[in-house]
Amino acid sequence: MIRSVDHIAAMALYALADLGPEGSVSMAQNESAFPPSPAAIAAGQAALAHSALYPDPDWTDLRAAISQVHGMPVERILCGAGSMEIIGALIAAYAGPGDEVLGCQYGYAYVATACQLSGARYVTAPEPELTVSPGDVLARLTPATRVVFICQPGNPTGTVISNADLIGLRGDLPDDVLLVIDQAYGEFADPHDNPRGLFDLVEQGNTVVTRSFSKAYALAGARVGWACAPDKVAGEIRKILNPNNVSIVSQEMARAAMLDQDYLARLVAETATLRDGFADQCRALGLEVPESRTNFVLMRFASMDDARRAEEALRENGLIMRGMGGYALHDCLRATVCDKPVMDRAAEILKGVLT
Ligand SMILES: *Cc1c(COP(=O)(O)O)cnc(C)c1O
Repeated sequence: MIRSVDHIAAMALYALADLGPEGSVSMAQNESAFPPSPAAIAAGQAALAHSALYPDPDWTDLRAAISQVHGMPVERILCGAGSMEIIGALIAAYAGPGDEVLGCQYGYAYVATACQLSGARYVTAPEPELTVSPGDVLARLTPATRVVFICQPGNPTGTVISNADLIGLRGDLPDDVLLVIDQAYGEFADPHDNPRGLFDLVEQGNTVVTRSFSKAYALAGARVGWACAPDKVAGEIRKILNPNNVSIVSQEMARAAMLDQDYLARLVAETATLRDGFADQCRALGLEVPESRTNFVLMRFASMDDARRAEEALRENGLIMRGMGGYALHDCLRATVCDKPVMDRAAEILKGVLT
């Protein structure tokens, strides 16, 4: 009888969102409400002709585009098949059996899976007010902590702490603890924060910032993420990444999307307008909605029962939101920002349930 190794046999399959019956509208995976940049689509189409070749293992053109836009040396930039691949590699490289990875109460669920794969223990610090609390993170450090993982902005909360507070947290962490800042939604926060602030932290040698093309750049299907990492960390991570991890088509799409910053700015602004309008409608219905710097909103209902009734009514009308039971937020639903007709329909259904 064949048998997988013990820690894999003991694992559950990573739980993606339930997308409902065919024909449903997904408001569950934080995909973009808008299509990718036309320049990205054209670049991907042109790249198809070169598909007989392996992709560039050094992501040269994509890294040059990221470097140009974000003003960092290309050696600091790593690209992955989604930022998930990079997050998994970081944990595999820096935390093993006997080590601890410290995340936050409402942190990114995949980190727990990556810890199971590497044999590290995943522990979390509370997030009072649905927001990362540096004091609570520091209070949970132990001599076994190897990696601290912070999502900024947070998912599923949508909230941020100030870049100054994050920089302060880095200063208070021991030098030999790797700080990973997951900025999958960073582009939605950039117009408010100084986007250089966190990237400059990388120079200290023990901080990595990850970003994604899946959310603001509208390329979830292309599977491209990137990280700004210290040289030494980048060297270790490249041993783990699949050497041909990002397809020739995806590298080209991401490169063109990165260089189309005007399109990105428009997408971010339009998403924010739809998001804030929907959040206000929800608040008018008595829901608690933390201020979001992402492309989704977290809605807290007066009771678990209200949340369940709302989820069912939405589903009956073909709209699938993400239940938050996995985070023990049974009175919450998370809604990805979709186009205006969908947001209006969702608000209408919620109004029907709650009034
Ligand atoms: C979507 C998401 C990611 C990963 O996205 P990729 O598609 O793998 O780049 C990482 N972290 C958080 C918090 C996310 O929501």
